[in-house]
This record gives sequence, structure tokens and C-alpha cells, in this order.
Amino acid sequence: MTSVVTLGRGPLLLAGSGPELGEHRRRWGPLARFSATELVARCRALDLRGRGGAGFPLADKLGAVARGRGRPVVVVNLSEGEPASHKDVTLARTSPHLLLDGAVATARAVGARQVHLVTGPQGVAELEQAVGQREERLRFTFHRAADLFVAGQSAAVLELVAGRPNLPVTTWQPSAHSGLRGRPTLLSNAETFAVAGVLATAGPEAVLRHGTPLEPGTTLLSLDGDGPPATRQVVEVAHGTRWGAVLPPSRLDAPVLLGGYHGTWAPAGALHDLPVSRRALAGAGLTLGAGVVLPSDGRCAVRRTAELLDYLASQSARRSGPCLNGLPALASAFREVVDGRPRLDEVRRLAGRVDGRGACAHPDGTARLVRSLLVACPDAVDGHVEGRCCR
Ligand code: SF4
Repeated sequence: MTSVVTLGRGPLLLAGSGPELGEHRRRWGPLARFSATELVARCRALDLRGRGGAGFPLADKLGAVARGRGRPVVVVNLSEGEPASHKDVTLARTSPHLLLDGAVATARAVGARQVHLVTGPQGVAELEQAVGQREERLRFTFHRAADLFVAGQSAAVLELVAGRPNLPVTTWQPSAHSGLRGRPTLLSNAETFAVAGVLATAGPEAVLRHGTPLEPGTTLLSLDGDGPPATRQVVEVAHGTRWGAVLPPSRLDAPVLLGGYHGTWAPAGALHDLPVSRRALAGAGLTLGAGVVLPSDGRCAVRRTAELLDYLASQSARRSGPCLNGLPALASAFREVVDGRPRLDEVRRLAGRVDGRGACAHPDGTARLVRSLLVACPDAVDGHVEGRCCR
């Protein structure tokens, strides 16, 4: 097992060579061609899952796209709508050819001729330079995502690529069946494509050198991603690494928000005995999401949650009731709890009212954040209700 490597360098995905293709090929070797069946088998053997948060198996998406009707398209999502996430931009700067290898390998496997790259404001120059060196007969098109929390959701990304406002919409069919303009669309996060890039160059052995038999490979974590710029880090960690190797024990003694603003609060001390493992975290009722890790340190997790709720309520597309009315009401009721008023039942009621009722996952993620706090930090919440803050 490889331990933590920090600051944009890493043992696998962040071991890149920047935008120089020659250097990249010397390190990773030539890009192999695979049929859809072969690539599906490779992804399934490693249980490669999407790294954008949903964790959907890439093999299932690939298979569905390959079986779909019409010319498929590939969409690489580097938009990172969440302000605390920086892993995709780090990947674009450090190993742009690795994620492009994954995009090219999957495009060839399913018969796509076009690759769309959806970025945030940063890392674009490195990615453009890398694309300029590629010789594959594929069309690469860049799109700049809006500066909005929900802009990175897959349905919103497809709207942007289709030339419409970069906002989530209700979709009735998975994009693998009917995505961009009704075509089979392989949309996944940049990190997912980078792992596919390793599979298509160095091969599965390179992934299997890291991690555990059940969860091979590594994962990218954005640590302190919404703190002062000097404190932000992106680290690459082998699956199975103890959290104590990622964060100092003193930081694990306080609640940690895992999975970002739509994530779950880990109770103080809970991560001491857990590994960096999506399976193990799920067993503990926690989610790693897109790898955002926000220790609370000396800050009150209740006040922090109130700030995040205010932010999330301001970030919806305001197109449906749960977002238009529900999230502001939830944020407001939670503020009252923070200020010592007995509104916990109303908070629970409102979280239940928005959950599962939106056109996208924004209300669900927001409800999850609140509920996880109530479970992880009951004493701190009670303290507020009783008119005393723990800090
Ligand atoms: S649930 Fe909210 S963010 Fe999602 S589509 Fe509806 S209005 Fe937009």
C-alpha cells in the first residue's frame, strides 16, 4: 500500500509529466486500443467507479453507451462546481494526458468521434496545450462551466454542452442511453477518465500496485479546499490508507465534513479507526463523494453547517419548489437553532420536505448535510438549542 503523497504529486494519477506528450509517453507507454467489451472487462475487474460523487460503475456506463443507438459522444467533467474541490484542476495541470488517454480510449472503444471537455476557470491553458499535441482523429471541444454549485451536475453539464443555460434539468433517461441531443453519452468525472487512462497505457497492474484487493488504486482528496489558499491541498491516497496518515490525529478528534457541502459529518474521533475506503465509509453511514475533506478544527460544526446551508440555498437554479422555497426555509429554521430557538422539529420536517423532491440532487444533498450533523454532533446541536454554543 502506498501512503499519502501531497501537494499535487502522487504515486499514480498525479505522477504526471505536465502537458508534454513525449514525456508522458515515456512514463506511461503507448495508448492501447480496446474494443468496448475489452474495456468494460478491465473497468469491471477493478470495480472502477465514477469519482464525481455518485460512484456509478464505469463499466455499466460504457456497456450501455456501446449498446446505444446513434453515434456516441464522450464528455469529461472537470467543472468542480463545489468551491472546496480542486482535484480535477490539479489533475488537468499535473497529468492532462492521462485523463485525455482515458477519454480517447473510451471514445475509440464506443465509436465516438467527439470529446467534450467541461472545465472550471482554471487549468484550461494546460489542458489546451495538451490537446494541441494529440494526434488522434477526434474532435475536442472545450466548454466553460458557470460559477454555480449545481453547474457541475451531469444534467447541467449536458445542458451547457448542448448550448443551453448550464443548469440542471429533469431527465427521464440515463445519459448513457439518451444524453447529448439524444445520443448515447459517456459522461464522467476527470479522475475517472484518468484511471481509465492508466488502464489503457500502463495496464491494470499499475493500478493494482496500490490500494486493497477490494478497492484497488488511489483516490484524490481535496483537503481544506475552502480555507485560505495557502492551506489548500490535493493529495493522492491509496485506498485503504488510515485516515491518521492523511490528517494529524488532533484534527480527527473534531468532526470532519466528508464529501463536501453535500456530504456527511463524521463524528469527532470516528475516522481514527476507518480507512480511506468508500465501502468502509458507507458502512459507517458516511460518504466520500468527490473527495472533499473539511476538518472542523476549532470551529463549531453547527455554525459551519448554517453557513453552508445559507450558501446552498443561494446556489439553486430556483426552478422548482424544493429549491425556491424549501432550501431557504430550511436554512432559516436552522439559523434559528443556531441562535438558540427550539426549531429542531421544523428543521427535520423541512429536510424531509425537500429530500427527493427536486429535479436534481441539490435538495437531497442539502438535506443529507443537515441530517448528518444532527447524528454526528447531537451534543453541539442540543447546546445551541439550549442557548449555549460549544465555541
Ligand atoms: S432541484 Fe433546485 S437546483 Fe435542482 S433543478 Fe430544481 S431548482 Fe434547480
